[in-house]
Amino acid sequence: MPKKLKIGGVEVKPGEKKTINLEVAKIYDSTELTMPVRVIRGTKDGPIVFLSAAIHGDELNGVEIIREVLKYLESKKIKGTIIAVPIVNVFGFNNKSRYLPDRRDLNRSFPGSTHGSLASRMAKIFLKEVVSKCTHGIDFHTGAIHRSNFPQIRADLSCSKTRKFAKSFNAPMTLDSKTRDGSLREAARKKGVLTLVYEGGQALRFEDSVIKMGKKGCLAALREIGVLLPLKRKVIPSTVKAYGSYWIRSPKGGTFKLEVSLGQAVKKNQVIGVINDPLGEEVEEILVHNNGYIIGVNELPLVTQGEALVHVATVKGSTSKKDRLMDFVD
Ligand SMILES: [Zn+2]
Repeated sequence: MPKKLKIGGVEVKPGEKKTINLEVAKIYDSTELTMPVRVIRGTKDGPIVFLSAAIHGDELNGVEIIREVLKYLESKKIKGTIIAVPIVNVFGFNNKSRYLPDRRDLNRSFPGSTHGSLASRMAKIFLKEVVSKCTHGIDFHTGAIHRSNFPQIRADLSCSKTRKFAKSFNAPMTLDSKTRDGSLREAARKKGVLTLVYEGGQALRFEDSVIKMGKKGCLAALREIGVLLPLKRKVIPSTVKAYGSYWIRSPKGGTFKLEVSLGQAVKKNQVIGVINDPLGEEVEEILVHNNGYIIGVNELPLVTQGEALVHVATVKGSTSKKDRLMDFVD
């Protein structure tokens, strides 16, 4: 007998589909702000999976990925349950902002509390009503403003079940990454929910290749855990595993001219760009510390000392087998 599933006090029975508007808080004009949740429950018991996006309110690619995934799932027979929350930070989304109105970062506010800040309360509601009811989850992100990320999965690869789930997504890169304090992924891990973070593209944009990759990867991961039937043709895993990553920071202020592109392989001491002064009298080359792949770049050429310029993923051995990561595998 499948267990009862209730979200925001609304019961969803096996075989039912429901849209639930979770009450979050009242805004200035006293109207209620709600977090839209779409639940699709199969008739058969199986994994319960949350799909979330816009925890950072200006990160939009994931909103579109979830819409596309839902469109696909609505007409399919599924085993288990999908709980889709395309806009978690409804405040930030409506203000085109990463943060909440109190400038707090929702993804540093988990597990949250009932009496804390607005961010803390939202985190608590989302964790209690959605995440804690799940066995698996995929949280969709993009780079922060002015930064762009190459499509990648971030997960704790030291856990064999998470590793298998992460690999099945088959993003161009799978990065072993420990969780951060206050993040949704950490709070989910503590509740035993196997969680992946998909990072791709930049804030405030819809980027076609990132969205296609996200949709394809998400459906593949749902097939892996049995929510959807497997494909008849075999999928060849092509993801490159990375064991760590680091940011190269600017040694001084100036303008930055980027000379590498997302997904490109780089070798130790390779020049990735130059910092100039406006007259071109002082030029400083920026070098790579270790072999790896470019998985994130700062798109804004105006940089201060210490500014993050380029994010490099480190891989075991050499990068010579693939001189760039595959952008989108069809
Ligand atoms: Zn984010």
